[in-house]
Amino acid sequence: MPGKNTGDSGLSAVANTYNRFPVTLVKGKGCTVWDDAGREYVDFAAGIAVCSLGHCHPEVTRAVADQVGRLVHVSNLYWTLPQQRVAGLLTENSFGDRVFFCNSGAEAVEAAIKLARRYGHDTRGPECHEVICLEGSFHGRTLAAVAATGQPVYQKGFEPMPDGFVHCPFNDIQALEAAAGRETAAILLEPIQGEGGVRLVDDDFLRAARNICDRLGALLIFDEVQVGIGRAGTLFAYEQTPVIPDVICLAKALGNGFPIGAMMAGDEVMAHLPPGSHASTFGGNPVACAAAEVVINTMISDGFLEGVVKTGSYLRERLGYLASEYPDRILEVRGKGLIQALVFREEEPNLAGRLLEAGFLVIFSHGKVLRMVPPLIVTEAEIDALAAALRDVLKGQSAASQA
Ligand SMILES: *Cc1c(COP(=O)(O)O)cnc(C)c1O
Repeated sequence: MPGKNTGDSGLSAVANTYNRFPVTLVKGKGCTVWDDAGREYVDFAAGIAVCSLGHCHPEVTRAVADQVGRLVHVSNLYWTLPQQRVAGLLTENSFGDRVFFCNSGAEAVEAAIKLARRYGHDTRGPECHEVICLEGSFHGRTLAAVAATGQPVYQKGFEPMPDGFVHCPFNDIQALEAAAGRETAAILLEPIQGEGGVRLVDDDFLRAARNICDRLGALLIFDEVQVGIGRAGTLFAYEQTPVIPDVICLAKALGNGFPIGAMMAGDEVMAHLPPGSHASTFGGNPVACAAAEVVINTMISDGFLEGVVKTGSYLRERLGYLASEYPDRILEVRGKGLIQALVFREEEPNLAGRLLEAGFLVIFSHGKVLRMVPPLIVTEAEIDALAAALRDVLKGQSAASQA
């Protein structure tokens, strides 16, 4: 066959949509992962803010193994116990009354957008369909989620984008007021922009968004796919803001690595998605829900979230020391809980690779922002080790640039 791939252990058989680090990981435990050569890495990426209880958490493993031997999948035409229990846990611990289950963050956002449109059409008429999003946001890669995403780089070449999304400058209340109107069905935002560079939305902006939604009868949607489920130091990030959203999107950490997404709302709002209006074959699958049940129960257990706040400030403090040692290279440290970022003045194309060589997994946002999202069980000793490795790399690089 022309152009047929001849294979090199499957490496070239995988679509080339990712710039991957040159390692094959085969095993994980807690905050450590191992590659196929037996090298060990401390994981400050956690599968992109996913494995919050750490790799192969024994209780998650046990619950999943037990569920795999009991019932794997029956679809949402029937009730399953793990899904009922997770819905109960999510709603008992939040403003929500009802949960729609899906398999990913983009699907949770997609569900929220569809809910906002239905709600808008039902309560205010068919012209009410627009979703106001923020510049710099990230909401996923399906066409609607990418249209909501406030970064043209993700949309380029995939046009035409679905209609009905407008973008407002970050933390600009006047622009938000100006964008909102009769057509506004929802304001969609991440209380902390994750992929966009760990940027925190101001309390005043959130209050303004809440007021606008109340005035118009529009929905305030929080995309907590990255910062929800313990990451910010509370089970949900909205708990640390002055507002309560109408709808919340969850995924990433919810299954500790098992694919699951969720879109949660109050009864009155969710009533606008009646039977048949939206669906997902795998959504809220019993195995993924068995994992999610352990995740939530562990996080709401005594002291867990307090620990996240404490370790988060420790990480922030260590990063702060580095920032003060290298003010010419590091602009600031920002974040909340265990999503913390070291913001560099210039792009740092080699830093992640150097840290990988030193035995640490880290991720960058847009070249300049070193985004740290370790498992929430990361220890102070692991943080010290990362800080020391970072210091070595920075020192080595500045010595080299002076030579
Ligand atoms: C990762 C992410 C998404 C997309 O999640 P997928 O599971 O990759 O579809 C959406 N919103 C935010 C805030 C995210 O961080």
